[in-house]
Amino acid sequence: MDLKTVRNYINDEWVESKSREMLDITDPATGGVIGRVPLSTAGEVGEAVDAAQEAYWDWRTTPPVTRARYFYKLKEVLEDKFEDIVKVTSIDAGKTLDESRAELRRAIEMVEVVCGIPSLMMGDSLEDVANNIDCVSTRQPLGVFAAITPYNFPTMVPFWFWPFAVACGNTFVVKPSEQDPLTQEIIFELIADEVGFPPGVVNVVNGGKDAVSAITGHPDIKGVSFVGSSNVARIVYKACGETGKRVQCLGGAKNFVVVMPDANLEATVPALVHAAYGCAGQRCLAASEVIAVGDIHKPLRDALLAAAKKIRVGPGTEENIQMGPVISPEHKQRVLSYIDKGVEEGADLILDGRGVKVEGHEGGYFIGPTIFDGVTPGMTIADEEIFGPVLGIMKVGSLDDAIDVIQKNNYGNATCIFTTSGASAREFTYKAECSMMGINIGIAAPMAFFPFGGTKGSFFGDIKAHGREVIDFFTDKKVIITRWI
Ligand code: NAD
Repeated sequence: MDLKTVRNYINDEWVESKSREMLDITDPATGGVIGRVPLSTAGEVGEAVDAAQEAYWDWRTTPPVTRARYFYKLKEVLEDKFEDIVKVTSIDAGKTLDESRAELRRAIEMVEVVCGIPSLMMGDSLEDVANNIDCVSTRQPLGVFAAITPYNFPTMVPFWFWPFAVACGNTFVVKPSEQDPLTQEIIFELIADEVGFPPGVVNVVNGGKDAVSAITGHPDIKGVSFVGSSNVARIVYKACGETGKRVQCLGGAKNFVVVMPDANLEATVPALVHAAYGCAGQRCLAASEVIAVGDIHKPLRDALLAAAKKIRVGPGTEENIQMGPVISPEHKQRVLSYIDKGVEEGADLILDGRGVKVEGHEGGYFIGPTIFDGVTPGMTIADEEIFGPVLGIMKVGSLDDAIDVIQKNNYGNATCIFTTSGASAREFTYKAECSMMGINIGIAAPMAFFPFGGTKGSFFGDIKAHGREVIDFFTDKKVIITRWI
């Protein structure tokens, strides 16, 4: 891949940032520098917002059926250039090719859903709310929205928001993660060249926390969608509250998977291994802690250990690789220090991924699959998000004990249960306080037409990402009451 400095896309022009602050973009599989990203200034964010504001009225008055047609075209372009985008993501984010394909497929599904915007945006009406008085409610766009997104799904997460907002008639500023901005650069090159939204309708500004403050503080931005760690989610939520913006902040996670004594291990183990080690554990839905209920603990632990040992670790761009590197040397260090902490706090390290070497890729940020047994609540590795290929195993006596562990954790993103009992599954989904749940599913990922987001420390706001509900986030419901006679 050529060494490239990513640019901002403002008002349908590619512009080089004037910022003096630049970061290297590295290939996580080699550690080599593959590009540079500017930390754009508040002024540059302002230029993008001005362009979006300027474009707003014409776009808002474009009929929804016409707006939808841009998304038909976008779907076609993304399908045509599917493998080109996949290759960039696998280098940019270190993902396996299949993982990059899966996230692009999810992004395309968002586009497919917004092609139905004329129906999704419809309001309600009722004649004779009183004698001769009729009432209509209609959804109207609000103006400029922005999204601030994380590194771990560089293709998909921006698509959770901007297509919905723009199809509703708003205009948009996307700020991708500065850790892997090349994926959005190639996608927006295709959008600029082949889809041709009117200038200013959708804009991209690269940068870090100064760009984020400029977004949250900008008076012309009506609402912000954020996805990232809970610490930053809290900062963005508070800042948007202070400037009176609509806000939805999706934060971090600690996902527990309960395995009941009656679970079918043959199906459970591969699902768990995929859920724990897919994307090298860097998923907000990743299985982080298995809670084994009763006697299933030993056979489950032995089967997980055997399966995890077989995972092929290496550069994501090679077809037969099952697990790629983590995103950066800093993140690798962070995950390794969690492993050290687990050992220090007395958990039993039955598979140690710390020393893994990938031949020919000595500079890559690889960590092998890691398993701790004997984890108990209160240990750092039991309570905090690790966001790497580290799976903990806890043993408890009953389903109630398992639910108690989940309830006491600060996060509430996702949780799953493996069981052959409908009664256990029902009790679990009824009681456990988490928003995304799987029954005999390892990664409970809601599709584009359902809402995505957690509860407790994993989500700040009320309307979640995508699905029917997000239309409410991106529009105002206006109620018009009429009397003519
Ligand atoms: P991050 O919080 O470091 O960064 C997210 C965004 O915030 C980036 O665009 C970054 O530029 C910006 N940012 C970083 N530090 C900032 C600061 N101090 N002030 C203002 N802005 C700042 O997250 P990440 O490391 O890129 O992504 C991983 C995290 O995202 C994990 O915690 C993961 O669970 C979470 N995540 C959550 C979901 C979900 O649906 N809940 C989905 C994907 C990722």
